[in-house]
Amino acid sequence: MVNLIIFGAPGSGKGTYASRLLSRLNLEVVATGDIFRGMIKEETPLGLKVKEYVENGLLVPDEITLEVLKQYLAKIPKGKGFLLDGYPRTIEQAKALDKIAKIDAVIHLIVSDWIIIERLSSRRICKNCGAIYNMLYLKPKRDMICDKCGGPLYQREDDVPEVIKRRIEVYEKQTQPLLEYYREKGVPFVEAKCEKLETPPETVVEEIIKGLEKLKLV
Ligand code: ADP
Ligand code: ZN
Repeated sequence: MVNLIIFGAPGSGKGTYASRLLSRLNLEVVATGDIFRGMIKEETPLGLKVKEYVENGLLVPDEITLEVLKQYLAKIPKGKGFLLDGYPRTIEQAKALDKIAKIDAVIHLIVSDWIIIERLSSRRICKNCGAIYNMLYLKPKRDMICDKCGGPLYQREDDVPEVIKRRIEVYEKQTQPLLEYYREKGVPFVEAKCEKLETPPETVVEEIIKGLEKLKLV
């Protein structure tokens, strides 16, 4: 059983790699961004509360985020680990997480800024199953239709230039310092670099798995 965090700027591919790691390792992915988007779509009371933040590229308040995290971690069957995608994003969130779980490794995605901007502005997502596509390099077989489930693809409200810019700023200011936090705690890192727009996700996933094997975590 292994508990992992995947870190990287918006658009570094966290969600794309997380969904592929899920099918290779015995763990569950908890992606706070996906959870929030689901609530917004369903228009639940909490969804209405978080909508403004998410659509403007701002962080959802820690109290709400932590409650949601706890609720989802509690659902994971015993003996299964987790991969957190999008949590923690602040030092406060990291400290709250320390109280509820032990983290075995941090997966750090290192991606150039220009790749991030290119990717985010051409990203499309399945409305139905959440699968991630890219109109440049990870195209669906049929135009705007999900390969996996046939659902319609859409562009996220926050994948537009001004909001992308804000998300990158928030990441640099609030989330990047967390790398130092985990280094200081002595949590091992697996680093994966992506320097080309056309690098297929599988290549990066292999690199991550090799890194985890080296640490004897999988
Ligand atoms: P990305 O990493 O591509 O920006 P995510 O899907 O991880 O996208 O997150 C989308 C949005 O959801 C964030 O911009 C933020 O508004 C909200 N969010 C997700 N996770 C958290 C978190 N841990 N704390 C606060 N807000 C969050
Ligand atoms: Zn789908």
